[in-house]
Amino acid sequence: MEDIKMVDLKAQYARLKPELDQAFSAVMESMAFINGPQVQSFCRKLENYLQVDHAIPCANGTDALQLALMALELPAGAEVIVPAFNYVAAAEVVALLGLKPVFADVHPDTFNLDPASVEEAVTPATAAIVPVHLFGQCAAMAEMVAVAAKHKLYLIEDNAQSLGAVYTWPDGTSKYAGAIGDVATTSFFPSKPLGGMGDGGAVFTNDSRLAACIQKIANHGQSEKYKFEKVGINSRLDTLQAAMLEVKLGYIGDFNAGRQRVAAVYDRLFAETESLEVPARCSYSTHVFHQYTLKVPARLRDGLQAHLRQHHIPSMVYYPQPLHLQEAYRYLGYQSGDLPVSEMLSQQVLSLPMHSELTQEQQEYIAQHTKTYLEQHG
Ligand SMILES: *Cc1c(COP(=O)(O)O)cnc(C)c1O
Repeated sequence: MEDIKMVDLKAQYARLKPELDQAFSAVMESMAFINGPQVQSFCRKLENYLQVDHAIPCANGTDALQLALMALELPAGAEVIVPAFNYVAAAEVVALLGLKPVFADVHPDTFNLDPASVEEAVTPATAAIVPVHLFGQCAAMAEMVAVAAKHKLYLIEDNAQSLGAVYTWPDGTSKYAGAIGDVATTSFFPSKPLGGMGDGGAVFTNDSRLAACIQKIANHGQSEKYKFEKVGINSRLDTLQAAMLEVKLGYIGDFNAGRQRVAAVYDRLFAETESLEVPARCSYSTHVFHQYTLKVPARLRDGLQAHLRQHHIPSMVYYPQPLHLQEAYRYLGYQSGDLPVSEMLSQQVLSLPMHSELTQEQQEYIAQHTKTYLEQHG
């Protein structure tokens, strides 16, 4: 049996090698490393895929969030609601821009922002909500849209982990994650659902004025060369990355379907294991399984991870400490117990290897060692 990997970028490359190598060579021959034609052609294809009017390229997913927030021009000190159980990026850019991160709790089954907790966190200073579509599944967007409309807040979707997930509205119509909010962001970090061979990101919106503003800010705030209309940043997607991503976008459906197959096999292998919970599927969203995240009893989680490691099975804890209890955000004054679901999940979650090249044999081996440990210590 081959070594088990958490994510298998090498196998993905092997599958697409002729096309990727050709795209790479084309950029090398043109030497147009900055703003080459592939940057625009990739963005047009991405707009077409997501059914969104504007995709603005940038250097990474964190910059995408920063650009979205800068373009909204929120007043200093305005509050932005972000999930406490999440990667740090959204909270970080909020704080960097002189705004105030306000943490809300997540739902224990979906790991996504809990609309009730968001509603509780709203104050007269609230300006925006950042629903993060975590691990491959959409946040409860109908509820988010309702809270945002009621309090006149912007919705900024962080879609770094769920590109290709589809959200279905109560009326049965559907949209891709990233095409719903006032503005949305994604990351092309190599392990993300659409990953490059390095860093990259994009911002999405259907608002042409906002799109123009984001574009400007990403290019030093220039309205034309050496005319600086706004305080901006330098955030670009390299031509080489755009060329790689343009190829990989053509296969995003295959890779997402591959991970869905792998998830279904895990589900079946764990069907009788009562001491763990497999990822919940919500009725309103497809799941593209950026992660396959189990919930196990908190007292067994770290031991299980060590046991798997002994058997050469990688696993990851996303995320081991909720953001409201991190040193960097202590100044906001949160206490342990303030966001109990995020705190509980950070003790219970364990993400298993997940990529479209996992074999049935590897998955059986992973499941067998997981079950053995839980039975012996349950
Ligand atoms: C990866 C990630 C980001 C940041 O993306 P980078 O490209 O690494 O800057 C932001 N939000 C979420 C939820 C992510 O998973």
